Amino acid sequence: MSKFERPEWAKKFYSSNAWKECRKAYASSVGGLCERCMESGIYSPGEVVHHKTPLTAFNINDPTVTLNWDNLMLVCNNCHQQIHSGRRWKVDEFGRVVNEYPSHCSL
Ligand SMILES: [Zn+2]
Ligand SMILES: [Zn+2]
Repeated sequence: MSKFERPEWAKKFYSSNAWKECRKAYASSVGGLCERCMESGIYSPGEVVHHKTPLTAFNINDPTVTLNWDNLMLVCNNCHQQIHSGRRWKVDEFGRVVNEYPSHCSL
């Protein structure tokens, strides 16, 4: 099992209609562009809706955290990885680039 596998409580949230509606509405409210790239004047399509306060098993049922637009950020995959890891890629022992995808955020 990969350590980036989503826990059950997170899967349930990310597959909920409430979240799907929320992230769609949020993404269109910011014009569908990566907010982090935009700060540097770059226009990249937003790919991931990131939670600034990470979701946990304790706040997953709290819509003021999970569905609060103030807690959301639309970013591209590169920015998202940088937010979480401070680096763009992880390279495994064979030198291959592996996608180190964070477990808590979702398209
Ligand atoms: Zn970006
Ligand atoms: Zn994230």
